[in-house]
Amino acid sequence: MDTAFALPTLPARQAGWVRDVLADPELLADLAHGVGGPYHLLYPPEFEANVDRFRSVLDAAGVPGRVFYAKKANKAEAWARSSAELGIGVDVASAQEIRAALGQGVRGADLVVTGPAKPAETLRLAARQNCLLAVDSLDELDRVRALPEVPRVLLRCLPSASDSRFGLTEDELDTALLRCRDSSVRLVGFSFHLSGYEPTPRADLAAVLVRHCQRAREVGLPADLVSIGGGFAVDYVTEADWRRFRADDRPERYHAGRTFDGFYPYHSPVAGADMLAAVLDTVPAGEQRTLASLLRAANVTLALEPGRALLDQAGVTVFTIQGVKDRGHGILTVDGTSLSLSEQWFASEFLPDPIASPSRAGRAYPACVGGASCLESDMLTWRKVVFPGRPQVGDQLMYLNTAGYQMDSNESEFHELPLPPKIVLDRDGPRLRWRLDSPA
Ligand SMILES: *Cc1c(COP(=O)(O)O)cnc(C)c1O
Repeated sequence: MDTAFALPTLPARQAGWVRDVLADPELLADLAHGVGGPYHLLYPPEFEANVDRFRSVLDAAGVPGRVFYAKKANKAEAWARSSAELGIGVDVASAQEIRAALGQGVRGADLVVTGPAKPAETLRLAARQNCLLAVDSLDELDRVRALPEVPRVLLRCLPSASDSRFGLTEDELDTALLRCRDSSVRLVGFSFHLSGYEPTPRADLAAVLVRHCQRAREVGLPADLVSIGGGFAVDYVTEADWRRFRADDRPERYHAGRTFDGFYPYHSPVAGADMLAAVLDTVPAGEQRTLASLLRAANVTLALEPGRALLDQAGVTVFTIQGVKDRGHGILTVDGTSLSLSEQWFASEFLPDPIASPSRAGRAYPACVGGASCLESDMLTWRKVVFPGRPQVGDQLMYLNTAGYQMDSNESEFHELPLPPKIVLDRDGPRLRWRLDSPA
């Protein structure tokens, strides 16, 4: 294993509950024994702490705000239940997601329904439950106007100079305002969702939408809400580790010399609620004061729809090692597939180092991680991860901070393998105890 010295490590940041779980290898092994395959661990108090962080930033800025958890980032019931208990909203995009959120006690009025060209059934259900409907096109607005209720509506805006397939252009917005005025829909405000993780474009566009609210008011529509969508970054690894990793990245560090076009920015200097603070503190293009100040002066509520950022540190994924091969570097094979670690399905890789449990002493052991399927491409980790010693068959392998998008967005019963169950942990005094997220 003489290549080990040249391989950088990329340790994942660890929440306190994760350290406690790792300090209890028997718990991890017992759960694997109990479920008979890979599983996900969820820890709702971490989600709740993230919600608090976003709310504190809004409070500190004196900006009235509403947080909606973007449900597509993780399907577990636990998050919708926490959202109901905390009184935050949920961002949903299908009739199934609406039903799942209502089923955990989230009020219809606390749901925002996004997604393009929503089916008639979804619109009817949403309107009847008094959900906020983010309208993506003029023809969708016409279907919404024809509903018997008085639907609450957001108009989703296409950012200027964007080739996104979502949202309304400036011309379409003008038409939409007139159509709202001449119907019984209640225009609540405007929304957008940007890819990328930069605060400035969000602040710039939010300021444009504040002006849209003012224009709507001029034609008699009392719009008072701007939603800036999600896209709050998550900081998975330290700056130093990320810099070291990127400096000298090359194909030899990956099984079979695999290369990737790009990676998620696993280190972000300004992430989560701090990124919201940065957005609020930005003076948008063409304005004289910060976004926070513009929102306060215009009496506009700021809505946000974080998915990944609310799940930061709130879940891990555990596999059992079923095989270890020595090929210059090791090849570990686990009892599940890369469909339970979604990043591979975006032609990329989830980079933070997985941790083997129990920790084996000995010589540093670099290894990639393959899935249990018959596909050459079914690799959870192409990168040669440096383990402190050679893992053994039957040991557990934990991927950290996987709740945001990694767990279930691409999960599949490929090979008739069961989907990994989600197990919710909480504290019972000093002990951690567990229950299934959704009993089968
Ligand atoms: C996906 C999505 C989100 C959540 O994005 P994150 O990057 O997880 O914060 C929010 N709003 C809309 C409209 C989305 O499509």
